[in-house]
Amino acid sequence: MSDQFPTYRAQMEYVCLGCGARHPIDELLYTCPSCGGVFLLEDTTFDKLKEHGGAYWRNLFDSRAATRNTALRGVFRFYELMAPVLEQEDILYLGEGNTPVVDGAPELQKKLNASFAFKNDGQNPSASFKDRGMACAYSYLRALVRKHGWDEVLTICASTGDTSAAAALYGAYVGHPIKTAVLLPQGKVTPQQLSQPLGSGATVLEVPGVFDDCMKVVEHLAEHYRVALLNSKNSWRILGQESYAYEVAQWFNWDLAGKVLFVPVGNAGNITAVMSGLLKMRRLGIISDLPRLFGVQSEHADPVWRYYSKPKAERVYNPVTVRPSVAQAAMIGNPVSFPRVKALVDAYEAAGGEFGVVQVTEQAIMDATILANRHGHIVCTQGGECLAGLLKAREEGRVAAGEKAVLDSTAHALKFAGFQNMYFTDTFPPEYGVAPDASLANRPSLVVDAAEKARLSAEEFTRAAAKAVAERLELAGK
Ligand SMILES: *Cc1c(COP(=O)(O)O)cnc(C)c1O
Ligand SMILES: [Zn+2]
Repeated sequence: MSDQFPTYRAQMEYVCLGCGARHPIDELLYTCPSCGGVFLLEDTTFDKLKEHGGAYWRNLFDSRAATRNTALRGVFRFYELMAPVLEQEDILYLGEGNTPVVDGAPELQKKLNASFAFKNDGQNPSASFKDRGMACAYSYLRALVRKHGWDEVLTICASTGDTSAAAALYGAYVGHPIKTAVLLPQGKVTPQQLSQPLGSGATVLEVPGVFDDCMKVVEHLAEHYRVALLNSKNSWRILGQESYAYEVAQWFNWDLAGKVLFVPVGNAGNITAVMSGLLKMRRLGIISDLPRLFGVQSEHADPVWRYYSKPKAERVYNPVTVRPSVAQAAMIGNPVSFPRVKALVDAYEAAGGEFGVVQVTEQAIMDATILANRHGHIVCTQGGECLAGLLKAREEGRVAAGEKAVLDSTAHALKFAGFQNMYFTDTFPPEYGVAPDASLANRPSLVVDAAEKARLSAEEFTRAAAKAVAERLELAGK
C-alpha cells in the first residue's frame, strides 16, 4: 500500500501576501500581477485531510520510508502536505531528502554545555537543502511542459551558489526541453559551488556585485521575458523545502515538544518553508506541539534580526547593505521572503509557537564551524552559524541546557573549504573580521621532498619516507 501513488488531488492556488488576491496554478507566477506581492501556495481543500487523524498520517509517512516507488521515496514522501496536484510521472527523484540527523559529538555537547544534533542537509544530491525545493519546482515545471507541450523552457535563477548548483543539476537531469541559465555575483560564490553549474552544463553568467544585485536582474528578466524563475520567489520551491520540517518531526517520532530548531536565514525561503511545514503538521494533529524556532543571521547580513530584535510596536523592516560573510550562502540584505516570514510568524505565534532570531559574529560562526568539524561533523559555515546561534541563545538565556536543539547544516562542509583554509592559514581579508585561533590551524607537511626522492632508489625512498613519518608521529618501534 505504501508503494501506491496517492489518489488525493488538491485544489491549489497562489495566495498573495500583499493584497490577498488568489490566482490559479495553471501558469507559473512569481509575484502578484495586481500588487507585486509574494505568494504562498495554498491547498484550498486541506480540510479534507482532517478526515483522518494524526496517527493515520504518521503511519502513512512512516510506511513510505521503505517504498521502492521513487515518486514517494524522496521529499514527496509527504506528497499530501506538499504539492498534491502533481502526477506520478511528473515527479523527479535524484535522491534528495532523508538526510541524517546526527547527534552532536558527546565530547562537544559536554564542552559547550548544550544539547544538539545537526541535520546534515549537505547530504543532498547537489550538497545543499536547495535540492528539496528544486525537486518540487522542476516536477511542477514538468507537469506544465506535459500539459502545454512546450518545446523550449529556459530556467533562470540568481544565486549565492547553491541555488544555481541545484537548478543546474535538476535541469540537466530532465534535459529537453529544459535549458538552464544561472546568474552569479562575480567572485562571491566558492570555487566548488561555481564548478557545479559548469559541470552540469548550465549557461553560467556573472555580474559584479552581490546576490541582491543578481536578484534584481533576474526579477527584471522574469517580468519582461519568457523564462522560468527558480529562486525561492517561486512558491513551488517553498513547498519542497517544507520536507525538512516533516523529516525532523518524523525523526523524533513526531514529538517536537521541548525541541528548538535553528535555521540560518538568507533570502528567508528556508525558514518560511520550515514554519509552513510545522504549521501544517500541527493543523492535522500529526504533531501536538510546535517546537521553538530560531532564525540565525550574521551581523554582516542581519535585516531579519534587526526587525525582530525590536519590541512589536517598534518594528520596521529595512534592507541592509551586506558586508562579506563566511556564511556566504546567507549573505543577503533584502530577503525576498521577508513578507512570508512576517505572515507565518504571526500564524506560528497564534498557534502557540515561539519564534525568535539570533544575531552572531563572523568570528563566532567560523569558530563554531571549525569546532564542530573537529568533532566529527561535516557542517558548512551556515551550519556553524546555527551552532553559534545556539551558543548565543544559551548565553542570552533564551535556551536552557537541557533543551534539544536541531541545527540545520544547510550544505556540505566541502563547499566552503576556502574559508577553512583562510582560518588555518590566517589569511582572512580584514573586512570579514575573523582572527583565527592559531592553535586550531592544521596544515599538510611534506615528509620527503621531490629532489630527495629523485636521488633515492625506490626502496631507499620507502624507507626514508617511513622513517620521516615515524619520527613525525613519534612512533615506538616493535
Ligand atoms: C540558500 C542557503 C541558505 C539561506 O537560505 P534562505 O532560504 O535563502 O534563507 C543557507 N545556507 C545555505 C547553504 C544555502 O545554500
Ligand atoms: Zn497582491
